[in-house]
Amino acid sequence: MDFNDYIRDIQDFPQQGIVFKDITPLLQDKETLKKASEALFLLVGEHRIDKVVGMESRGFFFGPMLATKLNAGFVPVRKSGKLPAAKISQSYNLEYGTDILEIHEDSIQKGENVLIHDDVLATGGTAKAVCQLIERLGGNIIACNFLIELDFLSGRNNLNGYEVQSLLHY
Ligand code: 5GP
Repeated sequence: MDFNDYIRDIQDFPQQGIVFKDITPLLQDKETLKKASEALFLLVGEHRIDKVVGMESRGFFFGPMLATKLNAGFVPVRKSGKLPAAKISQSYNLEYGTDILEIHEDSIQKGENVLIHDDVLATGGTAKAVCQLIERLGGNIIACNFLIELDFLSGRNNLNGYEVQSLLHY
């Protein structure tokens, strides 16, 4: 079983010129889903993790599973206007323009150990904004964990100083 066989390239999604890595075949297959969950968990190593933070929306696929295996809680980071309670916001740069991510202000206690998880590390703009949110709440970022890293976009340069763990590289 090769994980790469369960990730397909979608041309021109979500816009012209983008080749999108679609992970839904991997999620659909029961054995591959189980193996990918286990492999992501093993990437984390021996660290004690208090909270796994997952980004809307594809960080929600594996984030809670990782949290369960790590005996940690799960915290969602969402796009602007989606979280109901008191929150803090962070703007970040997209290819064109900016966007805003939010986190509940009571979701992480000062000094808690945090693992960030998302499906894909592309330019790193999203993950960097999430790091900023967590540090503003006093969280201690242990590592940034991804199913896929698009090496040619050099996203890890945006995450200098943090451990970056990726299961698959393209
Ligand atoms: P970045 O901020 O690193 O440029 O983009 C990462 C974010 O965009 C992640 O939240 C990820 O879900 C999404 N993303 C960017 N490119 C792809 C892709 O090819 N496939 C998938 N599944 N998500 C992507």
